[in-house]
Amino acid sequence: MSRILIVGAGWAGFYTAWRLESLLNEGEAEVTLVDPLPYMTYQGILPEVVGGSIEPGHSVVPLRRNLKATRVITAKVTGIDHGHRRATITPEGDEPYELEYDQIVVTAGGVTRMFPMPGIAENAIGLKTVEEAVVIRDRLLGNVDTAAQLPPGTARDRLLTVVVIGGGFAGVEVFGELRSFATSLLEISPQLTIEDTHFHLIEATGRILPEVSEESGEWVLSELARRGGTVHLDTQVRSMVDGDVVLSTGEVIPSDLIVWTAGVMANPVVVKGSDLPADERGRIRARADLRVGDEDGIVEGAWAAGDIAAVPDLSGGGIGGYCAPNAQHAVRQGKLLARNLVAVLRGGEPEAYVHENLGAVAGFGHGQGVLQFRDRELRGPLAWLAHRVCHGLVTPTWERKLRVFSDWTEQHILGRSTASLARNRTQRDASEATGGGVKAGKDLVVPAPLPPAEENGPVAVGSP
Ligand SMILES: Cc1cc2nc3c(=O)[nH]c(=O)nc-3n(C[C@H](O)[C@H](O)[C@H](O)COP(=O)(O)OP(=O)(O)OC[C@H]3O[C@@H](n4cnc5c(N)ncnc54)[C@H](O)[C@@H]3O)c2cc1C
Repeated sequence: MSRILIVGAGWAGFYTAWRLESLLNEGEAEVTLVDPLPYMTYQGILPEVVGGSIEPGHSVVPLRRNLKATRVITAKVTGIDHGHRRATITPEGDEPYELEYDQIVVTAGGVTRMFPMPGIAENAIGLKTVEEAVVIRDRLLGNVDTAAQLPPGTARDRLLTVVVIGGGFAGVEVFGELRSFATSLLEISPQLTIEDTHFHLIEATGRILPEVSEESGEWVLSELARRGGTVHLDTQVRSMVDGDVVLSTGEVIPSDLIVWTAGVMANPVVVKGSDLPADERGRIRARADLRVGDEDGIVEGAWAAGDIAAVPDLSGGGIGGYCAPNAQHAVRQGKLLARNLVAVLRGGEPEAYVHENLGAVAGFGHGQGVLQFRDRELRGPLAWLAHRVCHGLVTPTWERKLRVFSDWTEQHILGRSTASLARNRTQRDASEATGGGVKAGKDLVVPAPLPPAEENGPVAVGSP
């Protein structure tokens, strides 16, 4: 029996495992999937979790429930010694151990890319995991609640100022959702008006949403401005010590909610901890058939897909000749990888991955969206509806689709969910909130500490 080890259960890894379950014959191979989280995260709907439209637990897909023939291990892979066909598995709070395999599939995705700058580790929150989405949502809820009890002044202004860094899809979507959510919270906070809230989107280049046409990008800018958002183009963040966001223009924005979405990088822990070939951008080198290697040859028994891999884009549309890091590619690559792996196990030939980008769709607050499908574009409520339909339909499994569509229906009828559970994040805090227990440390609602910059080059957060 061949032993297949899949590293990472995101779009690419989950679909590889799921497909393998239906393709493999009994006794043909044993599949093990390792991920530090017991669920696959649908990152594309995290902005809607932030905006209180989707219950956090519905944005993830539990692995054990859906992968019944796969051995699921909740741990990190911290080393891959492909020369000896073994990986180092590190469960949280436990001793690392070695796991032997015959075929390895590396699908550990990307992490938020943060640059070392004063104050970033203490103040910025990434948006790659559902935990981060909940922290952002609860921070907004808590801040609006506290601000409603304060007189006008600098303390209240800081609580009501949101800064999002990065004008790509993730940044614009979370910015729009936060704006929309804050507006709906004002309806239940009569002490505050929309003029009391301040929303800043910071983008280093001269435009937002590079995935859609310049015209659509301009339209989104004007929509965000109409809803009271300030977009700073051609502007970089220099520091954010104590939440004071200092811009390259000299402007200083004091804020208690700073979201960082300015870039992703291939998972450095997995790439640097392995002996598989990587390119100059830290991605595992893959061929179009998803085997690790390049045109000169393959690394036997090693496969890679998704954001962690540099997969040639044979459709001719990819930036620099490679597939863009998005779910559209990761899902399709995962499915093909499973088919190719089974073909190779049975002595057949793998197929090359070819997928022409279908376009992009984004929602940025209730009723507002933009869609680009090949040469066609749509803006406004219809695009927003298309965004919801697309995201709902691509959610893996019928059970999850139903939960996501139910959340939207409930939101439509009952409004957004506005209860923050931030104070009850641990049992200790829960008892403190009700007057008992031991005094806990300061607010737990902070992003995880960053690894030291020298270990990983640019500081990376977001990876569990
Ligand atoms: C806010 C946001 C919105 C987005 N919107 C869209 C969109 O609308 N459309 C689109 O196409 N794309 C979108 N994307 C991008 C898309 O989500 C990613 O490209 C996609 O998730 C990549 O899939 P993947 O399987 O390669 O990696 P991931 O989905 O990132 O999965 C990687 C997995 O590896 C696991 N892992 C990490 N470290 C280890 C380790 N050491 N050992 C084992 N496992 C590990 C992680 O826990 C995770 O489960 C969005 C991304 C974000 C953050």
